[in-house]
Amino acid sequence: MSHSSSSMDFYCDQVLSGLIDVERIAETEQVLAFHHTQPYWPVHIVIIPKRHISSLAALEACDLPVAHAMLDVAAELCRRVTDEHGGCRLSTNSGDYQSTKHLHFYIHHGPRLKDEHGATIAQPDALATPGPRSGTL
Ligand SMILES: [Zn+2]
Repeated sequence: MSHSSSSMDFYCDQVLSGLIDVERIAETEQVLAFHHTQPYWPVHIVIIPKRHISSLAALEACDLPVAHAMLDVAAELCRRVTDEHGGCRLSTNSGDYQSTKHLHFYIHHGPRLKDEHGATIAQPDALATPGPRSGTL
C-alpha cells in the first residue's frame, strides 16, 4: 500500500482486505460497489477502486483507466437507481470533507438521514419513512 499506515483507510483496511463483509452490488476487475455499511441516505452506494488512490484530487494520469472503470460502474448504478427510485446524486469528497482517504464515489437517493458526524437528522414527516432500501437498490 502506498498510503501512510497512520491514516484511517476503511476501504483498504476493512473492505478490500476482506475483514468485514459488505453487501456487494457490482464488481469488476478494478472496481467494487457496495451498500454503505452505515447509510447516510435511504439508498447509499459506495464505489471504490480496488487499488489505493487517495482521492479524486490526487488522481494521476496512470489512474485514469481506473477512474474510467469507476465511471462505468457509476453510470450503470445511476441508471438502476434512477429506474427504481426516480433519481440519484453522485458525489465524492476531498480534503477536510473526506474522512476516509481512499477515493470513493457515493451514489445516493432520498432525504439525508445523518450529518457528517453520523448524528441522525430529524426528518420532516412524510419524506421521513422510505425505510432503508425498499426494492433491490
Ligand atoms: Zn486505500
